[in-house]
Amino acid sequence: MSLSQFRLEGKIALITGGNRGIGLATAQLFAKAGARCMLTARSETDDSRALTDTGEHAFHAADITAPASPDELVEATLERFGRIDILVNNAGVADGGDFHDFDDARLARIMDTNLIAPFRVARSAVRPMLAQSSGAIVNIGSISGYVANKPQLQVAYNSSKAAIHQMTSVMAFEYAARGIRVNALAPGYIRTRMAIDGMEDPEMSKVWADNTPMGRFGTPEEMANCVLFLASDAASFVTGATLVADGGYITH
Ligand code: NDP
Repeated sequence: MSLSQFRLEGKIALITGGNRGIGLATAQLFAKAGARCMLTARSETDDSRALTDTGEHAFHAADITAPASPDELVEATLERFGRIDILVNNAGVADGGDFHDFDDARLARIMDTNLIAPFRVARSAVRPMLAQSSGAIVNIGSISGYVANKPQLQVAYNSSKAAIHQMTSVMAFEYAARGIRVNALAPGYIRTRMAIDGMEDPEMSKVWADNTPMGRFGTPEEMANCVLFLASDAASFVTGATLVADGGYITH
């Protein structure tokens, strides 16, 4: 038994959506834990640049929904670092509105970003993991994969996140005996750009907080702690799990 199992010394992590929010906080914690990270998003931010400027980490700009992006991302990671030990499939977008008015373009954007892209990135990343007989994948799902959010309506988003939870479970089954663990994190309401408009709207914010038994929103750093556990050897017997980190939201 050793706390070193919670560290990521010498590990290489690919983190999508690594320029802000949950992905950035994860990269910052992973760096402290000893990992070197390949970050990706459509563009760098000052925060992600602060990490990559150290020379220990790298940034690959890409739209994750572009057909060639997943393979290119994995190739860029292998070229720079030689291996991939951890994939954090985190990039995502939210959108909502009445189901009967939700048009095809918005549906495609949600599904392409939140489901098809994570599927394709994981498929590209799992190949080198199979070759090295080791790896850990953490997919970022959501409490929206379990419940209907209120007051906002968002069937497409919720469906994409439920699919991520099931993808996690079935991938875990497929790769359990080949050294690759696959888990998911289901965050509740977390203070990031994705949720900030709702958090700054007094009415919506009140409904969200009132429905969270802890009475507050989570932080990207609290999510990063969970991702670190799932990605680390401390979770060596954990696969196929979706860890809910939501201040109690789905308990009622
Ligand atoms: P942010 O909006 O801060 O981050 C989203 C990230 O995804 C950004 O890095 C963004 O980069 C990236 N991204 C989005 N679309 C693309 C694209 N087409 N190509 C490449 N990168 C893309 O939100 P969060 O940090 O909150 O979101 C992270 C994950 O957590 C998402 O999967 C989200 O669904 C999930 N989640 C968030 C919750 C919350 O309350 N915040 C609750 C539950 C789950 P860029 O736009 O610069 O390309």
